[in-house]
Amino acid sequence: MDPNSLIIKDIDTIRSLSRNAKKEGLKVSLVPTMGALHDGHLRLIKKASEVSDYVIVSIFVNPTQFAPHEDFDSYPRDLEKDLDLSLEAGASVIFNPNVKMIYPIGYSTFVNVPKLAEKFEGEFRPQFFTGVATICTQLFIMTEPDITVFGQKDYQQSLIIRRMVQDLKLPIEVLVEPTIRESNGLAMSSRNQYLSEELKEKSSILFSSLQEARQAIENGERNRKIINAIMHKNLRTVPEIKLDYASSALAESLETPEEFLKGDEIVLLIAVHLGKTRLIDNTLVKIP
Ligand code: AMP
Repeated sequence: MDPNSLIIKDIDTIRSLSRNAKKEGLKVSLVPTMGALHDGHLRLIKKASEVSDYVIVSIFVNPTQFAPHEDFDSYPRDLEKDLDLSLEAGASVIFNPNVKMIYPIGYSTFVNVPKLAEKFEGEFRPQFFTGVATICTQLFIMTEPDITVFGQKDYQQSLIIRRMVQDLKLPIEVLVEPTIRESNGLAMSSRNQYLSEELKEKSSILFSSLQEARQAIENGERNRKIINAIMHKNLRTVPEIKLDYASSALAESLETPEEFLKGDEIVLLIAVHLGKTRLIDNTLVKIP
C-alpha cells in the first residue's frame, strides 16, 4: 500500500474511518500534534497504540494559537518524514486537514476555559489556549476518539484539555505522558530546531533550575516565593535568557498560596526566551 494513502485530508473520510473502526469493536485514539515530530510526539503515539487499536495522529499547524508576531509561517513542516515516523511508532492514519477547512471564511466559534487559561502561559500568550481548546474540540468532534494522548511538556495545556473534556461531557479518556528530554535535560520541542548549538547547551539551565527547586522542596522548603526565587537565581546565570515566568502553583488548580502544605501536589513552571526561541518546561513535585 502507498503510505501516502494514509494521509487523510478531509473530514468525512476521517470521521467514517473512526466510526468504521468502532463498528468493528476497535478502540480509537487521537494524538493531536502540529507536526515536525520528535521523540516526545512518538512517545504519545506509542502509548496510543498500546491502549487502543486504531491510532489517528493529527498534524495541523493551528493558526488560532499563534499571535501575529509569532512563528506560524516559519513553524517547521515536514509531512513526508512525519508520516514515516508516525507509522513506525504505531499510527494507523494521519489526519492533515487544511486551514480553510478548519476555519472557513466566516468562522466565529471559539472555546474558552477561562480560569485555568488566564495564568502563566495565558498571561504571555493571551490567544493561545483559546486556539488550543478550539482546535482540540474540533478534532475531537471530527475524529470521535475513545482516548486522546497529550504530553506533560505542555502541562497547563493538559490541564485545560482535561477540564474542557470534563465540562463538555465528551466521552473521551485523556492520558498525559511524561516529558521526553535531550541528554542535557532540554525538553524536546519542534522549536528546538531554532536553537544554535551554543544556545542548546545553555538551555540545560531550565531543567537544572527545576531540579534545584525540587531539591529545596525535598529538603523542606514550602514558601512559594523562595521556591520561585531559586529558579530565578539559576536562570539569571545565563545572560541570553529573557524570563517570562518561573513559578510554582498547586498542580490541579494552578492556585498560588504563599505557603504550600504537606501532601500538596505542586507544579514548577518555567517559560523563557533563549535567543529567538521560546522554551517552556515543568516538573511535578509532592510537598513532603
Ligand atoms: P505540539 O506538536 O508541540 O503541539 O505537541 C503535540 C503534543 O506533543 C502535545 O500533547 C505536547 O504536549 C506533546 N509533546 C511535545 N513535546 C513533548 C515532549 N518533549 N515530551 C512529551 N510530549 C511532548
